[in-house]
Amino acid sequence: MLYQSTRNDSILLTGTQAILEGLAEDGGLFVPRGGSLPALDYRSLIHLSSLEIAAHILHALLPEFSEEEALSLAHAAYDGKFAAEDLTPVVKVGGDYILELFHGPTSAFKDVALCMLPQLIRASLKKNGVTDKILILTATSGDTGKAALEGFKDVEGTGIIVYYPDGGVSAVQKAQMATQEGRNVSVIAVRGNFDDCQSGVKKIFAEAEASHLTDGRGVRLSSANSINIGRLIPQIIYYYKAYGKVVEGGGIRLGDKLDFSVPTGNFGDIFAGYLAKEMGLPVGRLICASNKNNVLTDFFRTGVYNRNRPFYKTISPSMDILISSNLERLLYFITRDAAAVKTMMASLASEGTYTLSEATMNDIRASFSADFATDEEAMQSIGELWQTEHYLMDPHTAAAYTAAKRYHEVGSDRPIVVLSTASIYKFPSAVVTAIGGAISGAIGGTPSENEFETMRRLHEMSGVPIPKGLAGLETRRVLHDTVIEKSEMLQSVIDRM
Ligand SMILES: *Cc1c(COP(=O)(O)O)cnc(C)c1O
Repeated sequence: MLYQSTRNDSILLTGTQAILEGLAEDGGLFVPRGGSLPALDYRSLIHLSSLEIAAHILHALLPEFSEEEALSLAHAAYDGKFAAEDLTPVVKVGGDYILELFHGPTSAFKDVALCMLPQLIRASLKKNGVTDKILILTATSGDTGKAALEGFKDVEGTGIIVYYPDGGVSAVQKAQMATQEGRNVSVIAVRGNFDDCQSGVKKIFAEAEASHLTDGRGVRLSSANSINIGRLIPQIIYYYKAYGKVVEGGGIRLGDKLDFSVPTGNFGDIFAGYLAKEMGLPVGRLICASNKNNVLTDFFRTGVYNRNRPFYKTISPSMDILISSNLERLLYFITRDAAAVKTMMASLASEGTYTLSEATMNDIRASFSADFATDEEAMQSIGELWQTEHYLMDPHTAAAYTAAKRYHEVGSDRPIVVLSTASIYKFPSAVVTAIGGAISGAIGGTPSENEFETMRRLHEMSGVPIPKGLAGLETRRVLHDTVIEKSEMLQSVIDRM
């Protein structure tokens, strides 16, 4: 099985090579050649443990790894890291189901992929006889950096440097990163904003290429961002697992279609659901849920992708995105036309927009629908669900829950699985405000200036345990306090090679 660029049929690599490359040399993303996926017998998978499901999926999509190797990768990735039975529990809430993806080390769904990616990189180095070390460079606005640090810490053959904007992340996010342990990790604050960090990292990659920076040093630079197929593949696991759980719980019969509502930013999580569907899992509708940055909602409704629009800061910051990178993969799968994808991406780069034909959009709409929730709507959903079901969700999950609720209103009474992507304790202020608003006067409702204090208040209000990685953060020892100028970023890499 080979992988190709979404923009060029003749750029071909094996799966492990694609993992080591990250992005194709022409800027495209790797997808299975011709969009053809291995068929999996879902009936034999859905009742297995998450680790066993993971092994089957890894082996199917990366056949260079035997099933046995794939299972040991899954153990290395997940053993002892998730504070929940079988990694990603499914909870029945009202007539629907919530798939809790946030029980990993950093309390966000990115852990599912970022625990696995380093293991895949380590094993891919070995498969390809590469003796170089991989040095991961990541710019973060808060969450990805911590999840990547936890995933890569002390993984043989790898190192990681995370750059975050000084003063530009929350107190909790800063504390999570500044207290990071591990022999191969660096955390650096940059004087500037997130865009400065991100463009700084891009410049380093360009400079390294142009001036052969890594030559003779036994190091390769790479990134952990969500376009790597090694991050995408592990996200398929929980769609199978959720399907099995809903069947076991009597929500649907085996073989019935199941709908999923997914809080979406870069389109990675929901695209994994599409891959599961293409591999034979009876997935009905994939509901793409956004916040006020609703570029995707407009796209699915009109066929015009247009990033030329205001950017809003919302209570669901991980979905504050105007360019959804992984959508490029869907465009390839739907059109199977790399030249067309290349043209669209060129148009996106130069004009900020591209348009799909009505026929193509109808193919897309056969699997996807889209909706968005404003901050007010998301908060209202949080309050409502707390009042009616005594279940609390974070603002990202609330966008997907709101979209699911509206999808029911237009006529579907099948159960929907809502993907829950973060612990309430990652966004405690919004959640405290939402419950306060819902039950005015009954309990608290105003977040404190101090986020740690707000976390404690939320715990008192809800009784939900604070995850291990977040409790006691305030008093943990700071191990990283380096602050640099943008202009010093390149040197910071050279120093750590
Ligand atoms: C990253 C993230 C998302 C969006 O996932 P994509 O794969 O980028 O679409 C949603 N919620 C949370 C909490 C996230 O961290």
